[in-house]
Amino acid sequence: MPPKGGESDGKDVIYVMLVDAVSRGGCPICRAVEKSENSMLWIMLYEHVNDPHVRERIRRGNGFCAYHFQKIVEMARSDPLIGGLAPAIIVEDLPSRYIESVREGTTLETECFVCSELERVEESYTSSFASKLDTTDLLTRYESNPGSLLCYKHYLEVYSRASEPARERLREVQLRKMESLLQSYIAKNDYRFIGTITEAEASSWVEAVEAIVGSGWSSHRRHRERQGRAPPRLLRPLRAHRHPTHSHR
Ligand SMILES: [Zn+2]
Ligand SMILES: [Zn+2]
Repeated sequence: MPPKGGESDGKDVIYVMLVDAVSRGGCPICRAVEKSENSMLWIMLYEHVNDPHVRERIRRGNGFCAYHFQKIVEMARSDPLIGGLAPAIIVEDLPSRYIESVREGTTLETECFVCSELERVEESYTSSFASKLDTTDLLTRYESNPGSLLCYKHYLEVYSRASEPARERLREVQLRKMESLLQSYIAKNDYRFIGTITEAEASSWVEAVEAIVGSGWSSHRRHRERQGRAPPRLLRPLRAHRHPTHSHR
């Protein structure tokens, strides 16, 4: 769930999360969403494994998207506190629904519970980033960390939600950051460069790619949208499509 704000000077829980994301480098919105995603999955697997409300939402949505199934498997394998039992309990209804759909000739469509939560989280971080450009020192912090760079999609989303004066300042800062990244990228990858290249410099192309496509779930979601597939929120709810041989009409 997106954390709730509340402080009148704009320095609320979301501000603290965004400041932390800015300090970690990369796209602050992608980073903040990733952090929320990891804690959401962990809490679901560790604390809500027997929560009937959560299990019903997962059952109604026919499980998770492939991206989150993969994340759940990775988390279960790497965290001994979770292990394999929790995911097994959470998905135990799904094979029977699959069998039922094959038997009855119906179509199962997935509406991933985690994706729909993350859409709200992403929207909350994006709107808050935009509003806090006016009310807090977030833009100064963003500007002063050269490693922090809004990816293209999140820059556009923050820009469209910001006030007129904040927009202009953000645009200038973003342009300076992009130009500096480009210069650094060219300098570090120029065949005439003869200095010693550190590991960080050699991976400057990763920063350049992330600046365009973002990272983690946000990037994955955008990729799906570009492929022309409906994002999870637009998937049709589960609906039975009767096979002609089963029709009673
Ligand atoms: Zn991003
Ligand atoms: Zn998902």
